[in-house]
Amino acid sequence: MMAGSFDDECDYLFKTVLIGDSAVGKSNLLSRYARDEFHLDSKPTIGVEFAYRNIKVGDKLIKAQIWDTAGQERFRAITSSYYRGALGAMLVYDITRRATFENLKKWLYEVRQFGSPDMVVVLVGNKSDLAQSRQINVEDGQSLAQLEGLCFMETSARENVNVEEAFREMITKIHQVTSQKTL
Ligand code: GDP
Repeated sequence: MMAGSFDDECDYLFKTVLIGDSAVGKSNLLSRYARDEFHLDSKPTIGVEFAYRNIKVGDKLIKAQIWDTAGQERFRAITSSYYRGALGAMLVYDITRRATFENLKKWLYEVRQFGSPDMVVVLVGNKSDLAQSRQINVEDGQSLAQLEGLCFMETSARENVNVEEAFREMITKIHQVTSQKTL
């Protein structure tokens, strides 16, 4: 099937971004999610990569465009173009590194500064397979999510646990938010 004709069949295109500290597993979550049908493209000029994945929500076909920082988390120059037009963000920490959880406040501040006001944020505690090195309890993730009004899930990109579910949650939520807006 031609790429062009496929695009025409999609009802919506949603831009989403992956955010969080370096080495929490963003790229692995993305490649795990997009591995079956994906184009991993890069925009070296602004230091990001993105992939597409088509997903059915109800009777709608949604094309999710998912941006990853490609290791450029610390280059703030990309920030505004990274967030521009994004409807959702997956905010990732590593359950085995407390610092990545503590830095979530900084990331949420950035989301509120650069993201759209009704951006959907899904909080993801990744590396759930490393139970023996866990530094952050599930309850800590849950209560932060509740406090900040976010969806929450623990995932393992390595063992493919909840990856599909976390992305689906984000896309479904975006669909709800955008269809309420157009009512
Ligand atoms: P990024 O910098 O946030 O994009 O992180 P990467 O996806 O590059 O992953 C950083 C490191 O964590 C790599 O060595 C990955 O193999 C490892 N990693 C990523 N996800 C998981 C996971 O779910 N479990 C385990 N055990 N390791 C992971």
